[in-house]
Amino acid sequence: MPLVNAKEMLTKAKEGHYAVGQFNINNLEWTKSILLTAQEMNSPVILGVSEGAGKYMCGYKTVVGMVNGMLEELKITVPVALHLDHGSYEGAKACIAAGFSSVMFDGSHYPIDENIEKTKELVAICNEKGLSIEAEVGSIGGEEDGVVGAGECADPNECKMIADLGVTMLAAGIGNIHGKYPANWAGLSFETLAAVQEKTGTMPLVLHGGTGIPADMIKKAISLGVSKINVNTECQLAFQEATRKYIEEGKDLQGKGFDPRKLLAPGAEAIKACVREKIELFGSANKA
Ligand SMILES: [Zn+2]
Repeated sequence: MPLVNAKEMLTKAKEGHYAVGQFNINNLEWTKSILLTAQEMNSPVILGVSEGAGKYMCGYKTVVGMVNGMLEELKITVPVALHLDHGSYEGAKACIAAGFSSVMFDGSHYPIDENIEKTKELVAICNEKGLSIEAEVGSIGGEEDGVVGAGECADPNECKMIADLGVTMLAAGIGNIHGKYPANWAGLSFETLAAVQEKTGTMPLVLHGGTGIPADMIKKAISLGVSKINVNTECQLAFQEATRKYIEEGKDLQGKGFDPRKLLAPGAEAIKACVREKIELFGSANKA
């Protein structure tokens, strides 16, 4: 099945009270692991690509070529969206031209008027081309230069202003953070989430920074209107741990253990296990 935009899968998720996972990709192994697991679990899936990962994978055209090739060769029949994660205005335009089926424009660092102006322009382009688009209000915290941000809470009125532009999905900061959560993290602000949901009605909401949020908070967030959850760091940690174990056990030194297809296999399996666990938690299994 060719790439689809994320609109239908998220509308269904919102109605069915579950969430679709966005799993970020970094290379061929990542992509293959995520696609095979989504297919095995009969779940819709969103492949996320940050601008940095896009550059690393030799540009958006390479990513589109790789993903489209895999959909065909692996005989993937579940709905798959290829989505730019935290895109700039220029990045979003480049991904639209390269053949992505969905983009995020993160204008949260602009004053709200400028965020609205740029989002509006991109919504028009995406509508014309049949792509889905995610916008963001209230920046999402994270570690930068060793300083851990608390995770901002979005203004529900600003969320409504952006939602009314016709975006497909909306990321609103509710105290969530990218990367690992600090020990003193205050938790998600369900108060903010409920207020945003009330203002934005049927708009699917997106929870970024899904790594390390306790399962009960994830479930509560879904019950309050979150229909898409982004997972990135958790797969990286799973890959790292499995790869470290392989090397530490000296398996790369035994026989043909140096073969990259063997060396990267435990990490790829660990990503599968991570994706499987998330699809179960988010409730999207058998919802393809
Ligand atoms: Zn994010």
